[in-house]
Amino acid sequence: MDLIKNYMDFLNDGKTERKCVALAVKAAEKAGYKKLEDAKSLKAGDKVYSVKMNKTIVLFQIGTEPIENGMNILGAHIDSPRLDVKQNPVYEKDGIVYLNTHYYGGIKKYQWVALPLAINGVVFLSDGKKIEVSVGDDPEDPVFCISDILPHIAQAQMSKSAAEFIEGEKLDLILGCAHQDKKDEDDKDEKKESNKDKILAVLKDKYGFDEKDFASAELEVVPAGKARYVGFDKSLILGYGQDDRVCSFTSLMAMLDTKAEGRTACCILTDKEEIGSVGATGMDSHLLDNVVAEVVARLGENNSELTIRRALANSFMLSSDVNSAYDPLNWELYDKQNSSFLARGIVFNKYTGSRGKSAASDANAEFIAQLRGLLDKADVEYQFAEMAKVDVGGGGTIAKYCASYGMQVIDCGVSVLSMHAPWELTSVFDVEQAYKAYKAFITLK
Ligand code: MN
Ligand code: MN
Repeated sequence: MDLIKNYMDFLNDGKTERKCVALAVKAAEKAGYKKLEDAKSLKAGDKVYSVKMNKTIVLFQIGTEPIENGMNILGAHIDSPRLDVKQNPVYEKDGIVYLNTHYYGGIKKYQWVALPLAINGVVFLSDGKKIEVSVGDDPEDPVFCISDILPHIAQAQMSKSAAEFIEGEKLDLILGCAHQDKKDEDDKDEKKESNKDKILAVLKDKYGFDEKDFASAELEVVPAGKARYVGFDKSLILGYGQDDRVCSFTSLMAMLDTKAEGRTACCILTDKEEIGSVGATGMDSHLLDNVVAEVVARLGENNSELTIRRALANSFMLSSDVNSAYDPLNWELYDKQNSSFLARGIVFNKYTGSRGKSAASDANAEFIAQLRGLLDKADVEYQFAEMAKVDVGGGGTIAKYCASYGMQVIDCGVSVLSMHAPWELTSVFDVEQAYKAYKAFITLK
């Protein structure tokens, strides 16, 4: 199996959380997983998955031990920073037709101008019909672009702070700018078709939806193009959405490739992490306990609320998310001895958060010791790190929401350079180590 090639395919084909879920369902079914909702009962050895709103997936392999002893849970997120299309997005200004967006997640806005962009997502008509839109990634497709000011006249812009020099409201994509025949303007009898009308006609003709259908759409603007190797030695990977599809893909593959022996194994690929794990498909919801309740209900024995609570409280979990890789060019931001380096293995963050560990989930020393023993035996390379120096910033993950069930959970993932940029960098070696670590974790006793 070519793990890295498959990973790059996953990045190329999974540019939205919905696409990642579809890819995960396809891979899971190929590996013998069945829909949880279709299973009347479950027993040891059974493999099931459950999808929530097409944006989150949870997979289970039922172990031989009672589920109330706890599960081994691999969790990661499949949403990534991007530009979301607004509900009334199309407008024309001085001949150019634009698509209005609202950015999603933490981005440096200036990084999203003057590069090729693709549009991916779904549009639902008022009769419920679903239309899939995917344009910009096929070499035959056109791409889209947000313009920037030429340096010659950018004096005022360049004197602003980087946070201000591209305004969020100006992150609008160019959809087209056709030549308008001057003769038409004088022709009073002929009703002139504006450039906006022309673009809307293309949408109607090619996809079958109208301007008002944007209201019931989820369209995401993402960098156009494929993941690539970086470096003469091809030791690195450049790709969009590696936060956190790198941990999602390796967790999913580990789940599909490893047989759960004792404890029940669970893999959850969740949505909305980049905006605080909010909503029905985010981790700050009853997503996990609801689906565990559905599993417990099908296991026959001990079908009670207490079983669900024990199953969750006795679980071990890797909250698998990326960590900022130490950046030699910006060394002053890092505490080098407590940083994660590219190509030195999977990273554990005992805690995340900012300032005085605010909003962190702080993993237990006992659990960390258990994981060190496991990974040493499995010959996996790992490192312990913080995101950066104390007080330079910080961030959170899904760990704290899972910890609230009482389970043992630690942040664990791949280091990324240029995290949250349109194109992020990871190391081939680290992706391989993550896969190995997650495989070993499934067998943790
Ligand atoms: Mn992340
Ligand atoms: Mn992130």
